[in-house]
Amino acid sequence: MLKYLLLIAFALVVWWLWRAAQARKSAPPAARPPERMVTCAHCGVNQPLSESLQVGERFYCCPAHREADEASSH
Ligand SMILES: [Zn+2]
Repeated sequence: MLKYLLLIAFALVVWWLWRAAQARKSAPPAARPPERMVTCAHCGVNQPLSESLQVGERFYCCPAHREADEASSH
């Protein structure tokens, strides 16, 4: 009897996992709001705010440009 209960429990887990996989497959890609673009203060390249480095009011595309700008301003 216990064997059948285990089988049913196993089938339920498999069905639940399968359903979760189907839901994930058919779900539309999460709509991301348009991200604010900022300009690197050193080279002028445009990039999303989340990928840039902010120093006060200025933005940089990479640490090297942040350091270069800081070095030239001192
Ligand atoms: Zn740059």
